[in-house]
Amino acid sequence: MLIYLNGKLVKRQDARVSVFDHGLLYGDGVFEGIRTYGGLIFKCKEHVDRLYKSAHAITLKIPLTKQALQQAMVTTLKANEITDGYLRVVVTRGVGDLGLDPRNCPKPTVFIIADKIHLYPKEVYAKGLKIVTVATRRNIAEAINPRIKSLNYLNNILGKIEATNAGVPEAVMLDQNGFVTEGTGDNIFIVKDKALVTPPISVGILNGITRAAVLGLAPKAGFKAREEMLTRFDLYTAEEMFLTGTAAEIVPVVMMDNRVLGTGSVGAKTLKLTQEFRKLTKKDGVRYVV
Ligand code: PMP
Repeated sequence: MLIYLNGKLVKRQDARVSVFDHGLLYGDGVFEGIRTYGGLIFKCKEHVDRLYKSAHAITLKIPLTKQALQQAMVTTLKANEITDGYLRVVVTRGVGDLGLDPRNCPKPTVFIIADKIHLYPKEVYAKGLKIVTVATRRNIAEAINPRIKSLNYLNNILGKIEATNAGVPEAVMLDQNGFVTEGTGDNIFIVKDKALVTPPISVGILNGITRAAVLGLAPKAGFKAREEMLTRFDLYTAEEMFLTGTAAEIVPVVMMDNRVLGTGSVGAKTLKLTQEFRKLTKKDGVRYVV
């Protein structure tokens, strides 16, 4: 495996960053996870734009143009002969001293990993996922805005630990007021009175690219879609539920907090959207040839 690291392709075992890198010392950095389908970087522009926005929000200047970064992504995919896979693009504040001050980090660290990805087994997509709501609240946007896809994932990891302790792979996190936010690594949708409903970005969630794609596909699939503040009541009484994310794609959820949701099997609207999403993954992005 070859890793792109600060402008060079290096072997996996040589892809090392300093212990003084503030990405490691303080989680001071941003990242993206991007899928490729049959030689197409899915939603490439959206991911690159979000990365630059995340960086800008933490006053981190990525030392490449968007075009150059996209080229580096393609170079890494080609070097690893990956047509269907996953890119992890990471930009950290770079190497500094032990103080917090970002001004002591003159050069951001940029690396790109191109790999294969299998998040959930096939049967999860056929039978649906079991999840739980957890006590750990999503951090408030006024502290660390979840719109910044930063290297600070401890809030999500604490939620994930609670989920795995409860014997399920994913959690839904609520905000300080008990409103539904998102999963630890995915956005959430329900079907309510036959319409697709998802919490608004303003509740304090990542502006998910898969979420936006699903909202865009809804009319095509013949469904109404809207953003609305949701509580656990809405989730328990949902007709269908699914999670969306780059790695997870569209995952049906059939049980939450040990309660059966809807019919207890994968919903018809979830299936229809999944079909439409599959079509989109074949055309919406930037092509490359390995
Ligand atoms: N929320 C969180 C916290 C995430 O980490 C992710 C995965 N990046 C998502 C939502 C889904 O976002 P996307 O569809 O852009 O991958």
